[in-house]
Amino acid sequence: MKKHNFYAGPSILSEYTIKNTAAAVNDFAGTGLSLLEVSHRSKEFVAVSDEARALVKELLDVPAGYEVVFLGGGASMQFCMVPFNLLNKKASYLDSGTWASNAIKEAKFFGEVEVVASSKEANYSYIPKGYSIADDTDYFHFTSNNTIFGTEMRYDPDVKARLVADMSSDIFSRPVDVSKYDVIYAGAQKNLGPAGVTLVIVREDALGHVERPIPTILNFKTHIAKESMFNTPPVMPIYASLQTLKLYKELGGVKVLEKKNIDKAAILYDEIDRNKLFRGTAAVEDRSIMNVCFVMNEEYKELEAEFNAFASAAGMVGIKGHRSVGGFRASIYNAMDKSSVEALIQVMKDFEKKH
Ligand SMILES: *Cc1c(COP(=O)(O)O)cnc(C)c1O
Repeated sequence: MKKHNFYAGPSILSEYTIKNTAAAVNDFAGTGLSLLEVSHRSKEFVAVSDEARALVKELLDVPAGYEVVFLGGGASMQFCMVPFNLLNKKASYLDSGTWASNAIKEAKFFGEVEVVASSKEANYSYIPKGYSIADDTDYFHFTSNNTIFGTEMRYDPDVKARLVADMSSDIFSRPVDVSKYDVIYAGAQKNLGPAGVTLVIVREDALGHVERPIPTILNFKTHIAKESMFNTPPVMPIYASLQTLKLYKELGGVKVLEKKNIDKAAILYDEIDRNKLFRGTAAVEDRSIMNVCFVMNEEYKELEAEFNAFASAAGMVGIKGHRSVGGFRASIYNAMDKSSVEALIQVMKDFEKKH
């Protein structure tokens, strides 16, 4: 039976990415060696790394003055690396979810943190709006897509401050005006590749303004100067990410992906709104097109475990919601085909008929 992968991360990858990576594990670029055993400094792998960074620039239309690096440590590492490099006295953060609040916690090690607004009191079911940002802040940080709560800011905020975004779970899902940002970071394991690499886009003139010394490996300048080869980079995840980037280009780029994503999300939200058993948990105007969160309506609450089993039996994998929200979460990242979303919708309809 076909499995439909709705995991939140690590998550679905395209067949193209998996097949090409598997082939390279057997024989990488005609070297007669496995991708798992080649030097990161071999000319074949340097070409992979260069092409991947160039494709990121091309797909996101990254202007001059920015550099793209592939780092270890996950997006969580960026929660500390960003303030280490950018926070001199004060930074401003939007508290829109668990990941945002984790980023806030780390920034506090480096200086004053202004939390401009929070939706914590409503279990992060909406994106706070109408906040203001201190004039003397070093940067404003936000999470573009709240993976756990299914809310998303599908726009580039207009702020005077330097702008930093955690785009881990919606990068490449739509066009982004990179020129508005100083740092964009994203763990690969949602829309790009397997876990183990983090994509960071840095505006070079945002660096060098903090007074503290920065350990070499945590300094963005190190990785920019060494073109992501300061230490051994995660070779296999970068190779797999390159396959995804190539596919994105072949499919027509992020504008085309955005259209597909909006379409996929719309049919699923329509079903959630129509089906008497379910309701969405995120504020309608802030609904994510990547992570669709829903619960059983109050009067059907006792059917939750049964629906989980029913959906699993039909090949749906990973739809159990995060423990902090409960219910269900369908992660429908770029790699997911509309037919899988339609399969989930059919399961929801069939389950409704049963009850
Ligand atoms: C998954 C996720 C993270 C954490 O990523 P790690 O690579 O596990 O550190 C951070 N932010 C967002 C928005 C995420 O979705």
